[in-house]
Amino acid sequence: MYDSMEQCLVLGKKGKERQYGYGGRKRGNATGHGQQEIRVRKNTGKRIVRGRRIGRTAWVACMAAAIGGISFALAVQVLAASEGLRFRGPGTGIGNGAETGSPDGSGTAGGGTGMESGTGDAGGSQSVGTVSSNVAVPDAAEQPDAAEPGHPLIAIDAGHGGEDEGCKAGGILEKDINLAVAELVRDKLEGMGYHVMMVRDGDSYLSKEDRAKAANEGGADLYVSIHQNSSEYKDAEGIEVWYDGTDETRDSKRLALLVGQQTVKAAQAQERETQGETDLHVLCNTRMPACLIETGFLTNEGEHGRLADGEYRERLAEGIVRGIDYYFHPKTMYLTFDDGPTEENTARVLDILKERNIKATFFLVGENVRNHPEVARRIVEEGHTIGIHCDNHDYGVVYESVDSYLRDFEAAYETVKEVTGVEVKLFRFPGGSVNAYNAEVREDIIREMTERGFIYFDWNASLEDAVKKSTPEQLVANGVETTLGRKTVVMLAHDVVYNTGICLEELLDRLPEYRMEVLTEDVEPVQF
Ligand SMILES: [Zn+2]
Ligand SMILES: [Zn+2]
Repeated sequence: MYDSMEQCLVLGKKGKERQYGYGGRKRGNATGHGQQEIRVRKNTGKRIVRGRRIGRTAWVACMAAAIGGISFALAVQVLAASEGLRFRGPGTGIGNGAETGSPDGSGTAGGGTGMESGTGDAGGSQSVGTVSSNVAVPDAAEQPDAAEPGHPLIAIDAGHGGEDEGCKAGGILEKDINLAVAELVRDKLEGMGYHVMMVRDGDSYLSKEDRAKAANEGGADLYVSIHQNSSEYKDAEGIEVWYDGTDETRDSKRLALLVGQQTVKAAQAQERETQGETDLHVLCNTRMPACLIETGFLTNEGEHGRLADGEYRERLAEGIVRGIDYYFHPKTMYLTFDDGPTEENTARVLDILKERNIKATFFLVGENVRNHPEVARRIVEEGHTIGIHCDNHDYGVVYESVDSYLRDFEAAYETVKEVTGVEVKLFRFPGGSVNAYNAEVREDIIREMTERGFIYFDWNASLEDAVKKSTPEQLVANGVETTLGRKTVVMLAHDVVYNTGICLEELLDRLPEYRMEVLTEDVEPVQF
């Protein structure tokens, strides 16, 4: 929750909507727990809200209006502990023969501007299966043990409690909703084999210091605080997650993104911008990755009604649990960049990857390596995998015959070896292995290349950044949508495209459920 006077100070107008694929992100039109702290003045029993705007020196205190109301009757549904959740989604498409490539081979004669397009995947329908299969269900009598491998201890903190009711509206108290959702989260996590520490068990008051202390001393591996929001703007709605953006050692941002995005998806709720600026005690003083989720606005009529509904709270809890589970069991993505290197665009991509400590795979064009040898060397020095794309990006010449392909490949191979010292094993066909230019020679080329010990990779998701000129927002949406939730993704992108570098950070923020890896000879190839 947050207080109305705080809101008066912080807000001035309704926030703008951002269009990033799904969810209809909202930003900026409300603030939550990151900017205030709730205290209880024991001698009067009245709630005091102390608000502090980040970046300002002024402190604001105001009395929250005493709102009467009937206590909300909770209907907590307990899941059978033995029944683990299994989230369904599109299949991995890897090795199941589902791929049917559809690149259009729209390269242009003249070299250097050829393009790949199409995701080359027909999708699938098998379970993502990232959940619970590798986590044993604990015995009912078993005590949480943070040191036990594979059984992380999750601290679930139901906000407020006891005399601290949190916000309230229409007879619903925030503390009750928080506890109801927290108990559902606990049950689902325990059903999947996680250990859970309920920071607040039952309707009792606990100071913020005691909450952080309990998680720290209990050895929790993760901390998730659950709250509800409020606003004097009745149309303010949606899910908002907070984390301490100043602490880069705890990976709290990834947790916050995961919990927020998965809960938005599960509840089909509005997504509000994830907030990394906060001095909230429980986020800044816990020692494990931590986030605080506000799962809805009690002051919004529609959301108020949904939060009162046990079925909706089940969906909220499922989303929170899914986010937590992805934190421990991420899916795998291989980011791949074709057609470079170029000077500025490749450098921009490399800077972002370096800052985030992410390794990727670059399929290089020999001609561009000769033009920008220092960039090619930087790619290798910073730990990325390089592969061969071609020497001259001209489909007509490259695919004229088997010999012309091999000649072009060898020229690129020798250039890359000379410039970087790397004897490349991986390659990617210009236009992908199935394209409009290589129907006659395709099989022979693959046989010749395979005999020489080279491995080719196509892709099963794409920014479609070489298909046509797109805005960064559209590229992000393409990238997210074409993953189809697969467990293993080879993402096609082009470091020669300006907007690809521009959108990369947002793209990575939209895909926190994936761990980024480099392609190697040991990775099962994705081929059309
Ligand atoms: Zn709250
Ligand atoms: Zn290309």
